[in-house]
Amino acid sequence: MQVIGIHLEPVPGQLPAPVSVYNAGMQFSTLFFDLDATLYPASNGLWDEIRERIYQFMREEIGIPEAEITETRDRYWTTYGTTLEGLRVHHQVNPADYLAYVHDIPLGDYLQEDRDLREILASLPQNLWVFTNADRDHAGAVLDTLGIRDLFAGIIDLLAMDFAIKPQPQAYQIALRIAGVEKPERSILFDDLPPNLLGASSQGLGTALVGKDGQGEQADFYLPTIHELRDKIPQLWSDS
Ligand SMILES: [Mg+2]
Repeated sequence: MQVIGIHLEPVPGQLPAPVSVYNAGMQFSTLFFDLDATLYPASNGLWDEIRERIYQFMREEIGIPEAEITETRDRYWTTYGTTLEGLRVHHQVNPADYLAYVHDIPLGDYLQEDRDLREILASLPQNLWVFTNADRDHAGAVLDTLGIRDLFAGIIDLLAMDFAIKPQPQAYQIALRIAGVEKPERSILFDDLPPNLLGASSQGLGTALVGKDGQGEQADFYLPTIHELRDKIPQLWSDS
């Protein structure tokens, strides 16, 4: 097999690893995008509204006293990666009921079609996946509202991960398998949460922190907003 124009470090005495024709010459083959507070800004209020619905669920559906809700939610988030996982473990909450409840929000109040983002994502030569700890119904609704759903090969959600969510190692292994990625170092995870990026880098993926200036955080790339992809990672479009 003759491979032209790939950019792997030459190793004396070894042939470069084969790459697919589609990605010949590309440094990165696959881009994974977190959903909430990554593909739309955390400042638009949607994420705050989801958090409020989570508090409401804990208060009204489970009966956790008001004074304990914030601390309990923070503890579940820190310990298990999502509030849901803590509620599953400690309160036997049905995930489908919880997810439907907390995402019962009129998305159009917070999100709108994002043609600029669509144009940027559509021009990327890599395979694009959504990789989120949320569920596929919520993710699909957000992507539909933004007008970018068709640009992704698929949605890898907490059900696909069988609840072994980011930053657990299995989450990344499942995502890489679903996306058919054999070389994790040729993929990047875009995410607003540093622990998720730490988990990604420990599995060999490249990392891009979205929505923060990067002070005190470790990532390969920093994007104040996802719209700055071209400025911050121009090599995604380059052959060389
Ligand atoms: Mg997020």
